[in-house]
Amino acid sequence: MADHLLITCEHGGNRIPARYRPLFAGFEALLQSHRGFDPGARILARELSRALAAPLFVSTTSRLLIDLNRSVGHPTLYSEATRNEPAAVRRDILKRYYLRYRNRVEAHIAAAVADGSRVVHLSSHSFTPELDGTLRKADIGLLYDPARPGETELCRRWQARLKVAAPGWTVRRNYPYRGRSDGFTAYLRRRFSADAYLGIELEINHRHVLAGGPHWRSLRRDVIASLRHALVS
Ligand SMILES: [Zn+2]
Repeated sequence: MADHLLITCEHGGNRIPARYRPLFAGFEALLQSHRGFDPGARILARELSRALAAPLFVSTTSRLLIDLNRSVGHPTLYSEATRNEPAAVRRDILKRYYLRYRNRVEAHIAAAVADGSRVVHLSSHSFTPELDGTLRKADIGLLYDPARPGETELCRRWQARLKVAAPGWTVRRNYPYRGRSDGFTAYLRRRFSADAYLGIELEINHRHVLAGGPHWRSLRRDVIASLRHALVS
């Protein structure tokens, strides 16, 4: 079965569409913070897509409008800026931004699976180095479902490759979040079997994004080269 690699980025920007901007008066600082988007996630997704010739889906709408990485019904699907809006407004946001994005990705996966491919879905994210007073020490997190052997194996290989090729980075599996927690990959696992679909979330520490320059470039290069290696071995 041939692998079909797919890259997505649910938290790629902090754009608020004009019609919803009034809801964000007073939330300007929040929009610029890690709660508004995942710094660095979009450029890494784009480079992964180019380097590995993989289709790319990116959302640049802020997760504070609606969080594309949460399931319908999840308490943080909408943020403090949108959750108290009338149901009709929330439905409109859901339809225009959430379903439009998630349905396109899901249809793309379904078509590849119908063609006989095994889909390897990589969802690009980044995490804040400090949350609620806890310092997160990893540089790179690989999130997956340990009950899915294909995901486990690929993440082990990827981590092992990084350790050999770029020993300076601390890579942890299912850190700083658990891969089975609510998210787009968790939803897609319920849609597609373990043989047909591998869903992995890549999490990069913001620290390196903010450092910028050659340091941040070398992290991206190492992530991409090690994934390429892990996919063919
Ligand atoms: Zn994210």
